[in-house]
Amino acid sequence: MEKIMAKLQRLKPRLQTLKPTHQITSPKKNWGNSRGGRAWRRKRQQIFKRDNYTCQICNRIGSPEKGKDSSLELDHIINIASGGTETDSNLQTICHTCHKQKTQKESQLFPKNRRGA
Ligand SMILES: [Zn+2]
Repeated sequence: MEKIMAKLQRLKPRLQTLKPTHQITSPKKNWGNSRGGRAWRRKRQQIFKRDNYTCQICNRIGSPEKGKDSSLELDHIINIASGGTETDSNLQTICHTCHKQKTQKESQLFPKNRRGA
């Protein structure tokens, strides 16, 4: 009997460290059910596949993995801010590099604090 108790006591600290920490997976705010949601991720895969994982601007084949220069992004052909929609026909696959250039251009065309618009 004593042996078992000793065993249990040795197991205890290990069990405590196995407890999941809840703070890691706090949901991002403002992402709602469009971007970052399950539907958006499915849409991403769908459009990437449709476009053969190829950037529609520079025609290079990208990777669906994130964080690379060749990473693919799901892009709105007509920016939402300019009246674009979330329909498939307004979505295209572009690589991270082109996406960066496009957003840069768009931020020049549509400055956030423009006046008299
Ligand atoms: Zn590209």
